[in-house]
Amino acid sequence: MRSIARFSVDTHMHLTTLYQPAGERSHQVRKEGKWTGLTWEVEPYDNSSLALYDMDRYGIDMGVLLPSVVGTTNESQVKLVERYPEKFRACCSDQTTAIRFFRGELPNWKFQDSLDEVDAALKTGHYVGIGEFAPGLNIYRHGVKPAPSLEERREQWRGICELAVRYDVPAHFHDHILLMRDPRQKWNYLDLLKKVCLDNPRAKIVLNHGYKDPDENGRDPEVNMREFYAMAAGLKNLYLETGGWCERNFEIAFEQGCSACRMMWGHDYGNVPQYLLRKGIERRRIDGNVTLMTDAKVWSYRRTDSQFGAQYHGFAAIPSYQPDFYGWGLRTIDRVGDWLTQDEINLIMGGTAARLYKLPVPLSRMFPEGRPDIFGEDWRDEWYPFLPDDQIQNPEPFRIPQDKMWFDR
Ligand SMILES: [Zn+2]
Repeated sequence: MRSIARFSVDTHMHLTTLYQPAGERSHQVRKEGKWTGLTWEVEPYDNSSLALYDMDRYGIDMGVLLPSVVGTTNESQVKLVERYPEKFRACCSDQTTAIRFFRGELPNWKFQDSLDEVDAALKTGHYVGIGEFAPGLNIYRHGVKPAPSLEERREQWRGICELAVRYDVPAHFHDHILLMRDPRQKWNYLDLLKKVCLDNPRAKIVLNHGYKDPDENGRDPEVNMREFYAMAAGLKNLYLETGGWCERNFEIAFEQGCSACRMMWGHDYGNVPQYLLRKGIERRRIDGNVTLMTDAKVWSYRRTDSQFGAQYHGFAAIPSYQPDFYGWGLRTIDRVGDWLTQDEINLIMGGTAARLYKLPVPLSRMFPEGRPDIFGEDWRDEWYPFLPDDQIQNPEPFRIPQDKMWFDR
């Protein structure tokens, strides 16, 4: 069977939940019809069998497991890694701290408690990154604690980045959901992202969803994308997840100077409450507008998208089946392949993730090296070799040293 790339990684998987409410609260929230599937504590569930089937079917070699909603734990991710060491790696966050907070066991929660849990998790050596939700976000995003100001969150990010650098792992940035439930805070999360990257140049920051939904500020989403990707191209420690992108995201990102060596394919796989929808369905939106936040036109630049079921009339808030993110996402990469080189696609599909999360790859020389168009003029210091030998399962005995490379001029 043909695969789309030499080595493919889904960098954004959720395999430990079906989004069912947990414990005694379960019956009550269902009866009241209040539970949307996005809040509070959920029941952990091993959702790996369909994922492994899909990975095999679509040629996805490895997946990075991210704990996310309250109820998923760091430890349940590690259990899956131990069961399938050739398939999965796991990230960690302040999962148990959040569970304890929402159960009322941590009434005096402070940000440092969240940071301490992540520090202890990383110390075990079982985790390859921080996220999906960076410490604190699990709690703030439910609106039960006031969201921090931009400067307060910026300071918190210094602590997060200190851990990321100390343990040499990337930190995921998903702070765009920080402000949704606290109207008092009006700052722009993209300003925060930029400050975090510049404040902490040695930390590697992954933007989840890579600005998939640029329909904000009531402006043309393409103008927003142009501005964002130009900024992202200038931040050398920022990595973009490309899972839900359409071709326009890729086109504009490359036009604005972003490089494949900082892009990674990742899809929010798992029973997340999203459906894949096509243009025309927007009139079923409950809110009447195209997005909850603004009146920008979410569908103006794309024909299909993944959207939350809870926003639509007559849709079950949580899909009872697994929407096929892989078939959808791979077709997008196929279309992008009409103008993007396969070497760059190999980075997006797996090479960038292999380097960032230190994943094992089968052979030497699978990914581009020494290319100023991809890595910049300073590729020698930072980007050669692309992967060290200890990540290569069957390394070749010889590697061309830089001083033996031949250049015409
Ligand atoms: Zn996710």
